[in-house]
Amino acid sequence: MRGRTRVDRPRIIGSITERMLLHSIAYEVLIRMRDLHPELDIDVEALEHIKLGFLREPCNNLLGYCSYSSKSRSRPRTEYEDRHGINRILISRVHMISDLPDAIFTIHHEFLHAILGSKEGHGPKFQEHEKRITSLQESIQRKLISMKR
Ligand SMILES: [Zn+2]
Repeated sequence: MRGRTRVDRPRIIGSITERMLLHSIAYEVLIRMRDLHPELDIDVEALEHIKLGFLREPCNNLLGYCSYSSKSRSRPRTEYEDRHGINRILISRVHMISDLPDAIFTIHHEFLHAILGSKEGHGPKFQEHEKRITSLQESIQRKLISMKR
């Protein structure tokens, strides 16, 4: 008897280069967050401490995932976790490599979940803010490519 197959799949840590790209995308998105959403009260200092990683592979149709911290824990596991309420954000490594503009879109999408909370989900407020990243995708992509040498 076998358990659920997903348990058999290894965690994807990625290479240093891949992890640098993931964190660079997140950084470039995060530093623009307040200007992009001036009406939201965004705790950038706390969001900077969110754990980032890659989804297990194959990811199927999942491009990203934002998991909320469990409320039952008496103390936070990571610094400022109580301020952003997030366990971690994971994205598809394969998709990040093959489609950089969409990886930028996905990271922004997951940060928005962290900012707007689980109750909002993909509601009207979320959708209104989600599309704003499209104005920045190209400039962030250019910045990331210039960093690669
Ligand atoms: Zn979502």
